[in-house]
Amino acid sequence: MHYDYVIVGAGFAGSVLAERLATQLDKRILLIDKRSHIGGNAFDCLNEDGILIHQYGPHIFHTNSPEVYTYLSQFTQWRPYEHRVLASVDGQLLPIPINLDTVNKLYGYSFTSEQLMAYFDSVGEPVADIQTAEDVVVSQVGRDLYEKFFRGYTRKQWGVDPSQLDKMVTARIPTRINQDDRYFTDQFQCMPLHGYTKMFEKMVDHPNIQLLLGTDFKEINQQLSFDELIYTGPIDEYFDCCYGKLPYRSLRFDHQTLEVANYQPVAVVNYPNEHAYTRITEYKKLTGQEHTKTSITFEYPQDEGDPYYPIPRPENAALYRQYKQLADGQASVHFVGRLGTYRYYNMDQVVAQALTLFKKLAGIDSLQEAIKG
Ligand code: FAD
Ligand code: UDP
Repeated sequence: MHYDYVIVGAGFAGSVLAERLATQLDKRILLIDKRSHIGGNAFDCLNEDGILIHQYGPHIFHTNSPEVYTYLSQFTQWRPYEHRVLASVDGQLLPIPINLDTVNKLYGYSFTSEQLMAYFDSVGEPVADIQTAEDVVVSQVGRDLYEKFFRGYTRKQWGVDPSQLDKMVTARIPTRINQDDRYFTDQFQCMPLHGYTKMFEKMVDHPNIQLLLGTDFKEINQQLSFDELIYTGPIDEYFDCCYGKLPYRSLRFDHQTLEVANYQPVAVVNYPNEHAYTRITEYKKLTGQEHTKTSITFEYPQDEGDPYYPIPRPENAALYRQYKQLADGQASVHFVGRLGTYRYYNMDQVVAQALTLFKKLAGIDSLQEAIKG
């Protein structure tokens, strides 16, 4: 069988492109994943107790892009959900992002927003040129809050000190002087009503899309006949790590089901300091599912294992650029997605990136046209 496109990876990047190329351009697609399921890291499933869990840690959908939201809405209904996170610090559960309540409860103050602003001005350390993940936080909230909420978490999560990481890592988390305790402020915040996997099933359910799961592209590459390749796995692996391995951070997920209906007050509690894990997620609080038991996941960061996070720091960006140069020389191979472009991207950014590639492949000018049903 000859395919117009072979797509490696059935996560967001691969599934969006398979769906668009099949439905809009009538292309014949082979969509391969080495895992036994579709959805990539956003895969969710019912566990042995019938509780919907996220196999690879908590995935909360949020975006400011009406196009991304409209596009995905063709494949799922949504459950409104605003994410709230508490951090376990000095024996209390406090709102993160740091806000007015965080500071007042932590130190026993009763600041107004104006007073908090003045406080941040007094404790924030001036940094002339903000470069690192440490600079971002100490310049805004000072050293003590940095050490209690960010330093330990970041060292655990990334295996390096925040001073060695790009500023974009901690710039994801804002600082607030009001009582807004939402983790995200995006225009669209919601969860797929029946889960991510059901949404992916609808995306790839098309006669032109042949799915091949449990298969590593490397093993069958030589036997395939196709015009173009879309690659969403790690870019360095594609090139046999010829310039050396790009560093990724991995996680070990400890999934547990407890004989209680409720475990913690919010879906995610962060543990920045004395624990080996970074956070605990309770899925029913994300999905709204009712059940007499509850399922939780502990995340333990580690170096070895599936590549979950590209590590944003200058030397890694430089190594990526070498691979990107090789990639640019291959006109019929397209690299896309979090691993394919070595970017710390959220789901919506990956969808937008995949739609942009589709626009290019289809010779379409507008994103509006690229998302039509
Ligand atoms: P992936 O989902 O990684 O898919 C790539 C696929 O390629 C994988 O399934 C892999 O098996 C396959 N593959 C790789 N190499 C090969 C090969 N050689 N042969 C065959 N198959 C191969 N984003 C949010 O927006 N909100 C969140 O709350 C959020 N939480 C997250 C929590 C965690 C713990 C993690 C790790 C990520 C989170 N993300 C979140 C990010 C989100 O998971 C990614 O943005 C998104 O899933 C990336 O999609 P992708 O298609 O680029 O990659
Ligand atoms: N972070 C932190 N303390 C927290 C939350 C986040 O230090 O309580 C830092 C940490 O470096 C983390 C980064 O901010 O990796 C981004 O956090 P986010 O919750 O966006 O991480 P993700 O969900 O992508 O793992």
